[in-house]
Amino acid sequence: MQPSPAPAGAVSRRSMLAGAAAVAGATAVSAVAAAPASAAAPVAAGKPDRASRTVVFRDVRPFGGAATDLVVVDGRIADGPAPRGAKAVNGGGRIALPSLVDAHIHPDKTTWGGPWVSRRPAETIADFVEQDVELFRAQTRSVAERAYGLMSHAVGRGTRGMRAHADVAPAYGLAGVEGLAEARRRLRHALDVQIVAFPQHGVIRTPGTARLLEEGARRGIVDMIGGIDPIGFDHALDEHLDTVFGIADRHGVGVDIHLHDGGDEGVRAIRGIIDRTRALSLAGKVTISHVFCLPGLSGRDLDALATDLADQDIALTTVAPSRDLVLPIARLREHGVRVGLGSDGVRDSWSPFGNADMLHRAHILGWVTDVRLDEELADCYRAAAHGGADVMGLPHADLRPGAPADFVLVRGQGLPQVVVDMPQRDLVVHGGTVVARDGEFLS
Ligand SMILES: [Zn+2]
Repeated sequence: MQPSPAPAGAVSRRSMLAGAAAVAGATAVSAVAAAPASAAAPVAAGKPDRASRTVVFRDVRPFGGAATDLVVVDGRIADGPAPRGAKAVNGGGRIALPSLVDAHIHPDKTTWGGPWVSRRPAETIADFVEQDVELFRAQTRSVAERAYGLMSHAVGRGTRGMRAHADVAPAYGLAGVEGLAEARRRLRHALDVQIVAFPQHGVIRTPGTARLLEEGARRGIVDMIGGIDPIGFDHALDEHLDTVFGIADRHGVGVDIHLHDGGDEGVRAIRGIIDRTRALSLAGKVTISHVFCLPGLSGRDLDALATDLADQDIALTTVAPSRDLVLPIARLREHGVRVGLGSDGVRDSWSPFGNADMLHRAHILGWVTDVRLDEELADCYRAAAHGGADVMGLPHADLRPGAPADFVLVRGQGLPQVVVDMPQRDLVVHGGTVVARDGEFLS
């Protein structure tokens, strides 16, 4: 699936948001030398020896380089040869690449795995929200079941971590975050998940929402409190941000705010977020998602804002929606701003598109930014692998000694070609355990 521009006159998630911004080998491992790695950690009672805690992935090519063995001890990449008797998995000369991190996804809204949904035209966030509620009520599968289906599918595509937003509003209560929490629990061996309580219907314009956000934080089932367009949608900049930051501060959780507002409204919201992050000593715990006002800034204004974001260690995420709205990742990183890449909605009321495949998202990033050079293509992969890890506070799975043994094995010629061709993830390894094979999650 290639990202294609919306036809003229059509209303889509991207065109609507853009408008808002403008206004304001073999199958699996060819041969498994021993038992699958998932069964390869026979921890003896007491003190397991090093060999029993080791899995060696033979004949793999890290980042497409020379073939070698990747030795994994206690779930981390180790230095030196594998001890005699360690379990072995034959990589068959496949390329080993870091597993991917989805910095922004909405598994509670998805219809993934269910019947096709035909969507009606929608122009405003309120229109989309109305269809969200209709679709939610029409579902015969629980949030937990739908989210588990999508999240386990993402694991099969090589995702090791995700920040998952769940709608919180009186229309749903806390069903969204509870469903995601259940899916997270079932997948805890395969996927690191952070849950954001997301007030899609607004915090101020929809009474009862703030109380639910607070309840989710108090119960410890959410990692972050969300927000949405404090000016353009909620029409209450200070009240909105004070409510969101107040809950986060009281309960020791983070903040991740959707910001589609463009122009001056967007910049004012960012300034409000920076001020509150500083005032409440929440540096490092705040993220702004989408940030459509930022790519249009002049170079000097962009640099000034990036400096202040970096000063408070505020992270940003982008889903690479279009050439005009994708964040300038390299420039932001030069300032020390963490930037993650994400999927956004997947086959929900907003859009029929999306597949929770972060290699595909790296491909889309390359497409919309019109890259040509190998190093640029590799940067797209790094944004999909390490960018989200930075946003979530996970260590890089960079295949170096000490790194978490979270990697994928694919057939191919090298990393740039993999970003273009998006081969099947033949093997997905999480913490040294094989969690997916031939693109399929091993339940
Ligand atoms: Zn979102």
